[in-house]
Amino acid sequence: MDLSLFFAGTAGSVPSARRGLPAVLVRRGGDRLLFDCGEGTQRQLLRSVGLLELDSVFITHFHADHWLGLPGMLKSFALRERAEPLSVYGPPGLKELMAVMRVVYGRLPYELGIAELAPAETVQRDGYLVAAVPVHHKGQACYGYAIVEESRPGHLDPVLAEKLGVTPGRDFGRLQRGETVDGVRPEQVMGPAREGRKLVISGDSTPCEALAVAAHQADVLVHEATFLHEEAERAAQTLHSTARQAAELARDAQVRLLALTHVSSRHAGGELREEARAIFANTEVVRDFDTIHVPFPERGAATLERWSDRLARTVKGTPPVTAHPGGHIPCGGAPPTGTRTGRQAGEHAQAPAAETPAEQAGAPESPAPPPGEPVASS
Ligand SMILES: [Zn+2]
Ligand SMILES: [Zn+2]
Repeated sequence: MDLSLFFAGTAGSVPSARRGLPAVLVRRGGDRLLFDCGEGTQRQLLRSVGLLELDSVFITHFHADHWLGLPGMLKSFALRERAEPLSVYGPPGLKELMAVMRVVYGRLPYELGIAELAPAETVQRDGYLVAAVPVHHKGQACYGYAIVEESRPGHLDPVLAEKLGVTPGRDFGRLQRGETVDGVRPEQVMGPAREGRKLVISGDSTPCEALAVAAHQADVLVHEATFLHEEAERAAQTLHSTARQAAELARDAQVRLLALTHVSSRHAGGELREEARAIFANTEVVRDFDTIHVPFPERGAATLERWSDRLARTVKGTPPVTAHPGGHIPCGGAPPTGTRTGRQAGEHAQAPAAETPAEQAGAPESPAPPPGEPVASS
């Protein structure tokens, strides 16, 4: 089962020449979940992977940089006669916001579900859940989200199973599904259950306990880093985080990979990365259209694929990536930190599906933003 994060926008508060406003697309198998939908998100998607048929949109909070792209996107889905239902989740207040947006998107030909989540409430999906994590930021209710897979069955020992009289094939499958076969119980031939993967997205937040708990041993923590530590006072005033604070949280929570985003237009990204890596080596600052592939842990660590590398791969017609493709950057250049229990080697994870970029031109490798842009704080 492939699992990845695609960053449609990595700016904070205001877009810059090279970064769009926040939106992260999580793909798991055939599921497509969007976390935040800043202004311009649908165009960011059209310029990269295409405006996909999303299942759900999760809004972290109601600062305009995190949702202003939603009404236009709902309208675009309507204009192309989408029939599948779409669910929008967010903190209390979402219904009121959507009612205001209705003026923009009008009547929709598809079913639009709107659900306000209570703090720590979970949305159950097929094989995983999405949990609302109450974070600490300006506004009445602000969430991060944790995407947590169910644990997987352990490995079946085929030699032992045969020795106990089970015929390979169909009966092995029954044992793996938890059935007893000819008196042989699954626990006699199956190894311990293996943990699923966990992704955590901070939304906007000052470092907080709820986020640290949710991020414990996460495969990937996507954390905002609006400021450098020399701006810590400003970060505290606006209830944002510095790169160093995000790295300290990642280190303490033993996450495997930290991806920094919500980058202020005052920063290019490298300085945030260096500050964070001094605390937590396995840190990347993501750029627009980057992808993080998250294989099952026994297949290797999460890897960052830069958009430019993906374009080059697509142009050359090289095969889709696996856990350690040549075009991937080993995240942070360091081994993953933290040890998770209950994981064993040997599972065959699927390679992520290769999607042809909708437009190969226009990669976001534009020059660094001009100096002196306003301080981001939303
Ligand atoms: Zn923001
Ligand atoms: Zn905000």
